[in-house]
Amino acid sequence: MVSTASPAASVSPESLPDAYGRFGAFGGAYVPETLVTALQDLAQVYDTARHDPAYVEELNRHLKEFAGRPTELYFAERLTAHCGGAKIYFKREDLLHTGAHKINNAIGQVLLARRMGKPRVIAETGAGQHGVATAAVCAKFGLQCRVYMGAVDMERQALNVFRMRLMGAEVVGVEAGQKTLKDAVNEAMRDWVTNVRNTHYILGSALGAHPYPMMVRDFHRVIGKEARAQMLEREGRLPDEIIACVGGGSNAMGVFFDFIKDESVRLVGVEAGGHGIRQGEHAARFEGGKLGVLQGCKTYILQNADGQIELTHSVSAGLDYAAIGPEHAYYRDTGRVRYAYACDDEVMEIFQLCSRLEGIIPALESTHALVEGVKRAKEMGKDEILLINVSGRGDKDVNQVAKLLGVTLR
Ligand SMILES: *Cc1c(COP(=O)(O)O)cnc(C)c1O
Repeated sequence: MVSTASPAASVSPESLPDAYGRFGAFGGAYVPETLVTALQDLAQVYDTARHDPAYVEELNRHLKEFAGRPTELYFAERLTAHCGGAKIYFKREDLLHTGAHKINNAIGQVLLARRMGKPRVIAETGAGQHGVATAAVCAKFGLQCRVYMGAVDMERQALNVFRMRLMGAEVVGVEAGQKTLKDAVNEAMRDWVTNVRNTHYILGSALGAHPYPMMVRDFHRVIGKEARAQMLEREGRLPDEIIACVGGGSNAMGVFFDFIKDESVRLVGVEAGGHGIRQGEHAARFEGGKLGVLQGCKTYILQNADGQIELTHSVSAGLDYAAIGPEHAYYRDTGRVRYAYACDDEVMEIFQLCSRLEGIIPALESTHALVEGVKRAKEMGKDEILLINVSGRGDKDVNQVAKLLGVTLR
């Protein structure tokens, strides 16, 4: 992948999305009529809340006391020396309660559910990280919680299923389709259509129908805001490049957003290259994906010639999804963000390298950003600064990695 200078988007990022939830040609709200009012109400409640000092104060308090914010900006000294180029910093979202950035959004939305007087929360989950974060906030605020999860994912991530149940959530296995994330989202939407009067749907990424992509992005903007202030304090200047992994795109939008207007800062999103860019063996939507509508949102989607959703694969369940958040599609087309991909074998190698050199076991999702980061650091000069968002920790992945390495744990 070539690195090109990134022209700033011509439109101010704050003005996106428009009143219809569109980021240029992407986004929108393609939903059944029964959900139109619910989505409009949600957009309204969110807009009032975010201008309400009491809501903002409470959100910030729980982000600090429950989630553990602010997270550290960490100088990866030995990884920097290993690469021999740019100075590498990590934004440590892996240090958050429940193990990943997902809790930022879960807290923001559970407070909205309470504000709307809805006693019941539903969520979808793939690897289980969003399910665990949602179960945690529902326990804390005493709300009823049901999480939909593909039956295949439930088996792969049995420990996260048990975690959710420990925190009082009901986990429902989905037997339809591929029995993974996409099917769990379908089931959650079906539930929401039926129970919308007493139920809030906490969607877990910057995806789906408006206002979700905007709202979820906003709840994660704290990542970039903190990183910006920490970098200025530490280095007296902004980083030259920021790299984040992209599943639906929430951790990446969160860390990118407050740097979009800084033309000197290159932004790079990393998708899952799986076994390589062959049909059905990856989840890199910008490598062959076409414009389409999936689960409420117009964006780049991996699909076959008939428009059927393509099979996807990645070693990391959190990046294994056929559609990408609409705001990423917009910044890709305007050229403001460059997109790369990392393949499973590279991820396995850098997962071990980071663990060994830094004493930090990153999530397999986050390791995709680290793969591109190691490549870029080597190409960049010693006077340059590279910031990598470590979106989560790898504790949830060690069983799977051991299996892939042929290590028997007992
Ligand atoms: C869920 C997850 C992701 C992918 O989701 P985005 O919305 O793209 O951020 C990335 N990293 C971790 C650790 C996750 O749990």
